[in-house]
Amino acid sequence: MVNSLKNIPSVDDLLSDPRIQEHLENYNRSFVVELVRETIEDIRARLKHTQQEATRAQITDWICSGLKHRLETLTQGTLQRVINGTGVVLHTNLGRAPLAKTALDYLYQMGSYYNNLEMDLDKGERGSRYVHVEELLRRLTRAEAALVVNNNAAAVLLGLNTLARGKEVIVSRGQLIEIGGAFRIPEVMKLSGAILKEVGTTNKTYISDYEQAINEETALLFAAHTSNYKIEGFTAEVDLADLVQLGREKSLPVMVDLGSGFLFDPLRLGLGPEPTVQQCVQAGADVVTFSGDKLLGGPQAGIIVGRREYIEAMKKNQLTRALRVDKLTISALEATLIEYLAGFPEKNLPIIKMLSMSRAELQERAEQLAEMLKAEASTHSLGYNVTIVEVDDMVGGGAYPTYRLPGYGVEIHFQDIKLETVAAKLRQQNPAVITRRQEDRMLISVRTLLDGEDALLTSLIKQALL
Ligand SMILES: *Cc1c(COP(=O)(O)O)cnc(C)c1O
Repeated sequence: MVNSLKNIPSVDDLLSDPRIQEHLENYNRSFVVELVRETIEDIRARLKHTQQEATRAQITDWICSGLKHRLETLTQGTLQRVINGTGVVLHTNLGRAPLAKTALDYLYQMGSYYNNLEMDLDKGERGSRYVHVEELLRRLTRAEAALVVNNNAAAVLLGLNTLARGKEVIVSRGQLIEIGGAFRIPEVMKLSGAILKEVGTTNKTYISDYEQAINEETALLFAAHTSNYKIEGFTAEVDLADLVQLGREKSLPVMVDLGSGFLFDPLRLGLGPEPTVQQCVQAGADVVTFSGDKLLGGPQAGIIVGRREYIEAMKKNQLTRALRVDKLTISALEATLIEYLAGFPEKNLPIIKMLSMSRAELQERAEQLAEMLKAEASTHSLGYNVTIVEVDDMVGGGAYPTYRLPGYGVEIHFQDIKLETVAAKLRQQNPAVITRRQEDRMLISVRTLLDGEDALLTSLIKQALL
């Protein structure tokens, strides 16, 4: 009611209210004043559009609670923990790989104190930040040299710019990929200053197509792993070994964008065959790039391994300075790589652990979760039924696009509340919960639940229903 507008208290009056005084003990005065003003504006706009009369005391109450809400949401941060019940192990929207405990401890140490990021402690001189991961990457991949940049998109950009700026790069049409979040090979190629020379067709490319396209302007043969889709049926792609042989004959380097870089045999996890980084290096690829936070299970990073002369040229490129990684990335990556070197990634890296869980383990976890949910439902008279179901999980992160990981989960059928209402409430909690939907039932896959999250999930579902 427009008449109520005159009942809005002044900022000064509000600041003397004990409820607002209390905030001044925890927050800077000018910050509180700014939010008081914003809250007043909100309430003024609301009053203009309502028929309801409001007293000064009522308006003051509204402002106090509005201010409290604003302060809480702004200072708790918008990035928050999420419980992933989707069964998609590498979910780009959910921050990809959760880090290993050792990576977090190391990151905490290196972030808390000064460190030797760019200091050679033996010589007491300036050193390189890349040494902390280069030796590990060389051992793990058997490549001559390595470099790390901000992400794999940056790695591809740097590789193309260093090896083929102003020159032609030959790529198969079947590999002109787009990865989620708008990473497009043709666009990256343009940005790098390299000239894209497409060969073959969407479904078939032969070595002779590359051979015929080579001329004096050619600088590089490029292969991208089509990691997020699969062309099925009548297809032909050139083997990396054949491409390498052609490169050797014509004195041209071969670069592979591997995307999700596996460092060990995926067959060990019961996954289908996918090229590992070592296999690409062994096949003779001169440069291989991959992500740090996909199947590797580390922090966001773009890892480049390959021949020393090319890696050295990249290190000297000014772009590397713009794309360089910080101490937090380097420490988390170093600790993650050490887990591979030590030899038990399936025990210590959350992503690999999730991928290597047996069906029996998954079934047992689903049974435990179902028991907890049922116990909670009977204690608090919550209206839902729970059943254990087999589910199709996914690797995600652009890897294994058509591959379904057989898993287990629980299906929850809510009796007197709409599924969307519960799902929306679960997303609003902290931690938020993201689930799947199976017709009119909520589906929660246990593969992507981390330690202790089954109990947490059970209590969050209860809170959403009470
Ligand atoms: C994921 C992916 C990229 C992009 O990697 P980011 O680390 O997300 O920048 C590039 N190429 C391929 C083949 C990929 O799978």
